[in-house]
Amino acid sequence: MNEFHLTKPDWDYKEQLYLEPCSSCDCGRYILYMRGNLTYFKGANEPEYFDKFIPTASISVGDMYDLFANVCEKLDIERAREDLEEQLDREGN
Ligand SMILES: [Zn+2]
Repeated sequence: MNEFHLTKPDWDYKEQLYLEPCSSCDCGRYILYMRGNLTYFKGANEPEYFDKFIPTASISVGDMYDLFANVCEKLDIERAREDLEEQLDREGN
């Protein structure tokens, strides 16, 4: 599906969110855990949950490919925007 292969990043890439296989049944899905402050759950911005990892979504392997494609699309846009900004900065100076 996608020829793009990520190597393991050298930063703490599970600092804000992470995926774990579902452990409550054998559905084969993954649970996306996110810090409370990243979610839209009611009360998740309260100090009690702000930094806590909250199970946010249950996603299949197919959903992960979908999420990956969505993320790649947005990162391409962000990279293009950064390149354009750098170019404008160079021309402005
Ligand atoms: Zn399950």
